[in-house]
Amino acid sequence: MAGVQHTPAYVLDEETLISNLEILKSVQERSGCKILLAQKAFSMFHVYPLISEYLAGTTASGLYEARLGREYFPGEVHVFSPAYKPEEMQYLITIADHIIFNSLNQLEKYRDLCAGKSIGLRINPECSTQETAIYDPCARGSRLGVIRDQLDHFPDIDGLHFHTLCEQNADALAITLKAVEEKFGSYLHQCKWVNFGGGHHITRPDYDIDLLIKLIREFSEKYQVQVYLEPGEAIALNAGYLITEIMDIVENHESKILILDASAACHMPDVLEMPYRPPLLASGQPGEKAYDYRLSSCTCLAGDIIGDYSFDQNMQIGDRLCFLDMMIYSMVKNNTFNGMPLPDIGILHTDGSYEVIKKFDYADFKERLS
Ligand SMILES: *Cc1c(COP(=O)(O)O)cnc(C)c1O
Repeated sequence: MAGVQHTPAYVLDEETLISNLEILKSVQERSGCKILLAQKAFSMFHVYPLISEYLAGTTASGLYEARLGREYFPGEVHVFSPAYKPEEMQYLITIADHIIFNSLNQLEKYRDLCAGKSIGLRINPECSTQETAIYDPCARGSRLGVIRDQLDHFPDIDGLHFHTLCEQNADALAITLKAVEEKFGSYLHQCKWVNFGGGHHITRPDYDIDLLIKLIREFSEKYQVQVYLEPGEAIALNAGYLITEIMDIVENHESKILILDASAACHMPDVLEMPYRPPLLASGQPGEKAYDYRLSSCTCLAGDIIGDYSFDQNMQIGDRLCFLDMMIYSMVKNNTFNGMPLPDIGILHTDGSYEVIKKFDYADFKERLS
C-alpha cells in the first residue's frame, strides 16, 4: 500500500466504490426503484457528495445518522428506529422525508406531529431466509416489525417497510416477497411506496441482478408503488482496506504470534461478534503457505485474535499487512477500548494517490469519557 505512511488506517478504494455505485445506479434505472445508502454500514460522509451522484438518498437508524445524511448527502432522508423519543421526533420532522415506525403504539403517538411527512410502518413477514440468529429480524420473538396478526386494518399510512435479509441473493428476496404478499397483500394496494430494506448483496459477483430487476418491476407494477432498497454493505462491498503494521512477534508453544497495531476488538468488532476471519492480502489458510502465524493485537484482551493465516515468507517486525473488505461495519463500530488509538481514515484515489482525510488523537479517546 504505497503512500500510506501511518498505520493503522482504514483506506477507501475509490475505484471499487465507484464501480459498486455504477451497478446500483443501473439497477435503479432498469427497475424504477430508488436506492438509499444505509449509513449504519458505512458513514464516511466525506464521500457522500460522490455517492449522491448515483443514489437517491440515505437511510438512518436514528436522529444522528439522519442529521449526517441531511448535512452531507443531497437527497432523500429516511429514518427507522424501534422507538423515538419526543425530542428526537421534534428534530426529525425538520430534516427527514420518510419516517418509519416499528409499532402501532409509536405510529399513533407521533402521527399528528408527522403531518406532511411520508410515514410508514415496519412489518415482519415472519419469513426467515438465513441461519444467523443475531442478524435475523424474523426470528421468533423478534422486536423488529409488526406481524400480520397485530394488524387488522390498514393504518392510514404511506408505505410499508420490511428488512429481513443479510448478505443475500435475489432468490431470498423472491421468497420474502411471496411471504409479504401472502400476509399483507390486501394492504399493498393502499401503499404509495414499499421499502424492501437492506441485506441485498447486489455488488457481489454472483448476485442475480436480472432477477432483482424482474422482482422489483413486477411488484411495483402490480401494486402501483415506488419501491425502495436501502442496502448498506452492497455500497462499499470490497471497497477498502485496514492497513496495519507488525509491532512484535512472540512465540508460545507451537504458535508464532504477530502483535499488530490493529485490533479485532477495537477496529473490526464484527470479527469477534459475527464471528469471521477477515480476508488478508497475500495470505493463505493455516498450513497452505510456508509460514504460519496467529494474528493478534496490542490490547490486553486475551481473545483479541484476528485469526490464523499463512504466508510465503517469514514475517518481520515493521512489515505491513492489508485486511480486505474493511469499509463496511468497521469505522462505524470501532471504539477506543484499552485506550487504543483509532485508525486514520484515508482514500486511495482513482489516480493512485493517497489522501488522509481524518486523523484521531488522545482527545477522541478522552471526549467519550469523563
Ligand atoms: C442494517 C439495515 C440496513 C442495511 O443492511 P445491509 O445488510 O448493510 O445491507 C438497511 N435497513 C435497515 C432497517 C437495517 O437495519
